[in-house]
Amino acid sequence: MPKGMMLKSDGFASDIYDPQGVLSLKKFCAERGIPYADTGKPVPLDTFCAYGLAFRERMVPNLEETNVTYVERIPGGFKVDLENGEAAEGRRVVLAVGITHFENLPATLAHLPAKYFSHSAANHEVNIYRGRKVVVIGAGASALDLAGLMHDAGVDIELVSRKPEISFHSAPTGKKRSWWQRLTRPSSGLGPGLKSRFFADSPLAFHYLPENLRIESVQKALGPSGGYFIKNKVVGKVPLHLGYSPDGAEVRDGKVHLALRATDGTTKEIIADHIVAGTGYRVSLDSLQFLSEDIRSAVQRANGSPVLSINFESSVPGLYFTGLASANSFGPVMRFAFGAKFTAQRLVKVLKKTAVREPVALSSVEVAVNTK
Ligand SMILES: Cc1cc2nc3c(=O)[nH]c(=O)nc-3n(C[C@H](O)[C@H](O)[C@H](O)COP(=O)(O)OP(=O)(O)OC[C@H]3O[C@@H](n4cnc5c(N)ncnc54)[C@H](O)[C@@H]3O)c2cc1C
Repeated sequence: MPKGMMLKSDGFASDIYDPQGVLSLKKFCAERGIPYADTGKPVPLDTFCAYGLAFRERMVPNLEETNVTYVERIPGGFKVDLENGEAAEGRRVVLAVGITHFENLPATLAHLPAKYFSHSAANHEVNIYRGRKVVVIGAGASALDLAGLMHDAGVDIELVSRKPEISFHSAPTGKKRSWWQRLTRPSSGLGPGLKSRFFADSPLAFHYLPENLRIESVQKALGPSGGYFIKNKVVGKVPLHLGYSPDGAEVRDGKVHLALRATDGTTKEIIADHIVAGTGYRVSLDSLQFLSEDIRSAVQRANGSPVLSINFESSVPGLYFTGLASANSFGPVMRFAFGAKFTAQRLVKVLKKTAVREPVALSSVEVAVNTK
């Protein structure tokens, strides 16, 4: 996430889960004297990062930071090779790789060299583009936040979206909601609305829906939109090319020439120094190159994601997936921190029941905490 960004989720929905609630975001902010509200006050990225580090220090002091380079099946379990030369063996592996490895890039631009083209995930520091011309593609939080923050930083920025309109979350009114509003649009960890309430609170019920309905719901629910707090930085400030998709690009004389095409066939070209794809994330097991080919081909998939049991286990016994990769099974809440509570409780229950040795949890703070 770019420096200066705010979380879209409410304060109460941005906890890193721990079973006793020892270190909620609210408690962390109270300890440090950081302004906090359950709702109506966006959480700055800096605060969330400081909270994450404090959580790690207190709850998972022995966390080992190293990359997993290879996971393969061995008799009775798995062998996990680490970048530091060590290896671990376990009967189970929990893959909690989140959104990493799953950056989605428009195929029409994938050939561009890194100097001219990057994914939003690679752009933490926007000041490096000051004085240069950048085109951001997309209309979700990543694209809109980058566009607004880059404009503030003095970048000559333009935004391209295939959607004809850009949507933003509604700003809080500060007024108490009426009983009718609370009934028809109840609040939830994913924002107000009956559907959001179902997605946030009933991931297990979601799992029992037919597969095609689950996949469709995940694709449609909580579509691209910006936080209300970024609207003023974008609308009326950043030139918008709405209803256009990237049709191709080439580098000429040190500039990237981006060809755009609208649905009615209209075309135009933008010449820039760099293009950023704020085009989100798409689960594809083939992106997890550190999994052996044997594992990748054995995991049953639906629409690119692993098919998971009610306990997050894939068709490879002992191999579990959490986070974004579990969204088609348990719903859109798995894309957010709010989904961690259900995930951790469910996983820990099943792992404890049959545990012989501790599972190898790859960067999953929630799971690591709960297996203690
Ligand atoms: C722009 C943007 C805004 C967002 N805003 C919100 C928000 O407001 N609220 C919210 O709840 N969510 C938000 N999200 C979603 C957020 O990313 C997820 O909720 C959260 O990151 C999920 O946590 P995670 O631990 O599952 O995965 P991640 O945070 O993605 O962490 C995965 C970890 O796995 C590690 N890893 C990957 N591969 C390996 C390997 N081979 N070896 C070792 N380690 C590995 C990575 O280094 C990383 O540390 C946002 C996402 C984006 C992109």
